[in-house]
Amino acid sequence: MSSTGSGGRRFRPEDHEEGGRRFKSENAERVPAGELRHSNEERAPQRSLDRRGDIDLGFTDISSGSKAEREDDYDDYIELQPRRTRSVREDTDDDFGYVNRSPYSRNAHARARRGFPIIPVIAVIIIIVGVFVTLNLLGFFGGDDEKKTSSVSSAPVSFASLSGEVATPTPTPTQPPTPTPPPLNTKYGSIHPELQVKKQEFVSNEDGQKVIHLTFDDGPSNLQDEFLDTLDEYGAKATFFISAQFFDDAQIVEAIKKLKSRGHQVAAHTYTHVYKDVYTSVETYLNDFKKINDLIKEATGEYSPIYRFPGGSDTGYNESIRKELFEEMNARGFVYYDWDVGSGDSEGLSVSEQVDRVLGNALYYEDCIILMHDGPDKQDTIESLHTLLPEFIDEGYSFKLLDPTVPPTQYAKISDYTE
Ligand SMILES: [Zn+2]
Repeated sequence: MSSTGSGGRRFRPEDHEEGGRRFKSENAERVPAGELRHSNEERAPQRSLDRRGDIDLGFTDISSGSKAEREDDYDDYIELQPRRTRSVREDTDDDFGYVNRSPYSRNAHARARRGFPIIPVIAVIIIIVGVFVTLNLLGFFGGDDEKKTSSVSSAPVSFASLSGEVATPTPTPTQPPTPTPPPLNTKYGSIHPELQVKKQEFVSNEDGQKVIHLTFDDGPSNLQDEFLDTLDEYGAKATFFISAQFFDDAQIVEAIKKLKSRGHQVAAHTYTHVYKDVYTSVETYLNDFKKINDLIKEATGEYSPIYRFPGGSDTGYNESIRKELFEEMNARGFVYYDWDVGSGDSEGLSVSEQVDRVLGNALYYEDCIILMHDGPDKQDTIESLHTLLPEFIDEGYSFKLLDPTVPPTQYAKISDYTE
């Protein structure tokens, strides 16, 4: 191909060695731009010479310099080659302009270009490596800094994360404290897939302790302080299955924080407590459950793993969806708790009737979950507590919180529907 021929002729070292002017005028007539570029691509080993040709011919200069800046061809060549073909020493001289180039140095350059320029290439490699190492040491590439940062901070950060008390003013990347939950392979797994908790083993009460688990459904309400003060009076702790019936979201979050700060347990009940809406489908249940448990998470930093169905697990409202609902909630790690004894405070019983019902049943239990309610109309419940709590203490009971290790009382069980 003609470009190869002209390119081969044109880039002969001896032509170049003769001096740029003649070289320039000859090739200006012979080599069109397209061919020149082509030859550049095909002749990678002589790339520096190609560049020179480009400049002299007035084609677009692909090198770093521009044509107008070059007045002398030899100096042009030198300028085109800096950092690539000159030794460090020559470079230094040139940069400062103190040394006139002698004929000897010109010849040396010419010789260097005849064969493969091993020495200049080595010099270039050394310079590049030197620059890279220097920049690396100065931290320009960031790798070392990352390693230093992580090695310095990894231990305290990880321990702090485990304790859940990260006080360091680190930016948002460390904010999400909980890892992404695993994908749910359940029928309704695509609905609020983040709604999962780690399941825990149940621990039976085998040492014969007499335990009362006080539970209050439906709050928080405007009677919260009275409930808490009453419980404090007897050193009793309780579990509150909360709903959004009486407070707005912000009030509920504050109420949850107060419950926790006073040493009580907070668990999920329902957001609306409207049976026909909550139990329309598994999806509507999950939507309602998420709304109330999101408030718990907002206040405490994590979902409650324990919950109570509105109306209990055996309510007729959930019958049509019960099997799938139980399976879905179980797969997500949540455990529901019914109760052993209900005080009847939601049935209009008087204070004395509530007391009789509770004591007439709970004292038969070694470990008893008692259901009562918090609400604006539950003054009678508070009054009954003033009788019940000292009675339990006299009978040798201690008050314990529900947590996911407590074996649950469940009226309707998953096993009833899966076997
Ligand atoms: Zn309820």
